Amino acid sequence: MIAHTSAGLWTLFYFVFALCQLFPPTEFITAGLTAEKLFASLFGSEHLNFVNYHMKRTTCNIVAHLCLPLGYCLVLWWTAEGPGRPLASWEMAAVISSALLAAAGLLRWYHWWRTDWCSHPLARVLTSYSETGLWRQTASEVNREFRSVDKFATDAIAAHRVIITDNWLIKLTPYTVHLLHVDHVYLDLESSSEPHVLSERTCQTVTCRVVSMRPAVPDFVIRVTSEQLPEVRHRLGRRVRNLRNVVIHQTLTERFVDAFRRVVHENLPVVVTEDLEQCIGCGEVPAGVRLARQCGQMGPGEPCRECNCRPMWCLDCFAKWFASRQDQDQPETWLASKCPCPTCRSTFCVLDVRRVLPAHS
Ligand SMILES: [Zn+2]
Ligand SMILES: [Zn+2]
Ligand SMILES: [Zn+2]
Repeated sequence: MIAHTSAGLWTLFYFVFALCQLFPPTEFITAGLTAEKLFASLFGSEHLNFVNYHMKRTTCNIVAHLCLPLGYCLVLWWTAEGPGRPLASWEMAAVISSALLAAAGLLRWYHWWRTDWCSHPLARVLTSYSETGLWRQTASEVNREFRSVDKFATDAIAAHRVIITDNWLIKLTPYTVHLLHVDHVYLDLESSSEPHVLSERTCQTVTCRVVSMRPAVPDFVIRVTSEQLPEVRHRLGRRVRNLRNVVIHQTLTERFVDAFRRVVHENLPVVVTEDLEQCIGCGEVPAGVRLARQCGQMGPGEPCRECNCRPMWCLDCFAKWFASRQDQDQPETWLASKCPCPTCRSTFCVLDVRRVLPAHS
């Protein structure tokens, strides 16, 4: 009876433990209880040797997870009756099959390790990108780009991570590393979750299919939040396609830029004679606004002042500057608030922002 109760308890405990290994909740990961956290010291540094680190990490997960059934058999055998008891035939079968599973994992690891990782699936993908046929050459390129601060990377704790460097799009999962050169991908938006409101921010999860143009790499799916999507779009440009017209709710800043733009379009424009330079914010369009007071100093706080700066910003960049200077927890007050001119620091409100019209047009 006692043996039965303890076997039941162990089964329950082991079942929860195994489930947390396979689908680790955030708390479990931060507590360092997953296989890849327990053995992390054997992988080297992710920052210095990204490719090698993840080859070892994924291998560790494969081996550890394939050993879970054998672990259960051993725990149960040890706790139920103690070692030395003869096993029933069905128990024997369970032990043998779980031992075979564990052996398969270990053999796979041994094979990759013995071939100096050349036979690892990621090494094969890297080889296909190498002119000399050496995967380490491409790997060092990927490592170098990963070390750069200028990269897009989703939450480091999540089991599935997406990283976009200058040239590579990478998805990390517990067992695999998907890697593609950004010139060989299209990112098709597939669906978006129902938006939920997070302290004034609307957040959605957007599912995107990464369409591979390399026969060696199959398509895969990544998930990013609607707030991360503009950054992904910025990095992949026209490679992000919304063929299914997936509705993405605007971010808070995007909604503010729309409202700001509407007010400025109602303000009287000013005519300028000088040539307009490119916007210093985005460098993509000519400068389109300047400050010229017309508000009569309404609103609370510091009074608006004259600004004599020449037009340097486009309307959208100016709106983003305005938004960035506001209390981020109170977006409803933004439009009625004030902001310093980015150049001369004189205070202005949205009524003082005017579109500029070149005199010769
Ligand atoms: Zn701009
Ligand atoms: Zn100014
Ligand atoms: Zn004003």
